[in-house]
Amino acid sequence: MENRIPFLDFGPMHDPIREEIDAALLRVSHSDYYIRGAEVEAFERAFADYIGVKHCVGVGNGLDAIQLILRAMDIGPGDEVIVPSNTYIATALAASFIGATPVFVEPVLETAEIDPDRIEEKITSSTKAICVVHLQGRPCDMDPIRKIAEKHHLRLMEDCAQAHGAMYKGRKTGALSEAGAFSFYPGKNLGALGDAGAVVTDDAALADKVRYLANYGSDVKYHHIYKGVNSRLDEMQAAVLTVKLPYLDGWNADRVRIAEKYRALITAPQVAQPLPPDADHQPVYHVYGIRVPDGKRNALAAYLKEQGIDTIMHYPTPMHLQGAYADLNLPKGALPLAEEFSATELSIPIYYGMTDEQVKRVADAVNAFFA
Ligand SMILES: *Cc1c(COP(=O)(O)O)cnc(C)c1O
Repeated sequence: MENRIPFLDFGPMHDPIREEIDAALLRVSHSDYYIRGAEVEAFERAFADYIGVKHCVGVGNGLDAIQLILRAMDIGPGDEVIVPSNTYIATALAASFIGATPVFVEPVLETAEIDPDRIEEKITSSTKAICVVHLQGRPCDMDPIRKIAEKHHLRLMEDCAQAHGAMYKGRKTGALSEAGAFSFYPGKNLGALGDAGAVVTDDAALADKVRYLANYGSDVKYHHIYKGVNSRLDEMQAAVLTVKLPYLDGWNADRVRIAEKYRALITAPQVAQPLPPDADHQPVYHVYGIRVPDGKRNALAAYLKEQGIDTIMHYPTPMHLQGAYADLNLPKGALPLAEEFSATELSIPIYYGMTDEQVKRVADAVNAFFA
């Protein structure tokens, strides 16, 4: 359809900076230096400063960033890691890949974030860490979660893959715990032109260990102190990310504008919308996930498709009902809130440069479906 509204359009974001991006790519191409060089160093410095922490280590992707933090915290086989029941599967897989067991804690319906009041009941003698996820770009309520971690002597980390630039009580996500894991998958709020990720932390020893683990466990060339992996950020992606980083706040502000518009224009009482920013929470709306009850979600998605509007469900099957986690023996009904999200959530388009007219068309179509 001519006037299709895509779920995400890179054009408005990339078109004005194509020359800057191309120049960065050309610079790397002509440097004949492609892995972990000056470009990676420059981006690591810039991103650490942006988040407000001392250290940033560029890695291969977001999944690796989470895994590497957990490994650097000496978490492994036999250990349990608390994660939200409603997140992208990468959060849980990161724990699984290092031999630990993910333990799912249900979210708060209104925020989609892990419910601090449900964490303690899942803590056992094997629990070693909590990995929160700032899902949809809304920062979790970190104060009560930090108190629980301290009380039970648990390590605390953040999966920030959807929350670049989001703030909780004046501090950026990634700076709210011992370490933050970022993904720069192209569709994230800050995205590379391929796979990329980063770990941010104030802890110099943790940063060093992540850096070594991500490079075959090597501290000095051909000297291996850990059984590490290969998960390095490359110069091309780092150069692109350095070009894009200064624009991130402006891009995020535009998402906030669009969210505000949706909140005003979607009037169908059947639709629950993401919470607005408040004094403590400045979300960056990586996605705008509405909730549609009573079995109407799939029909709404189909209707919007007919109207030329693309949507995505985050996520159609909760992790505990995936074949990958059949071994956890969590049957349907075991995590009702995660299941409720899977059955009712629908993410409608939100991206930098979406016009008022496009936002109105989406909102009108949602309202019309329920009229
Ligand atoms: C995207 C995402 C990841 C994984 O990032 P990759 O770079 O694709 O590995 C992890 N957690 C969450 C919440 C994500 O949205």
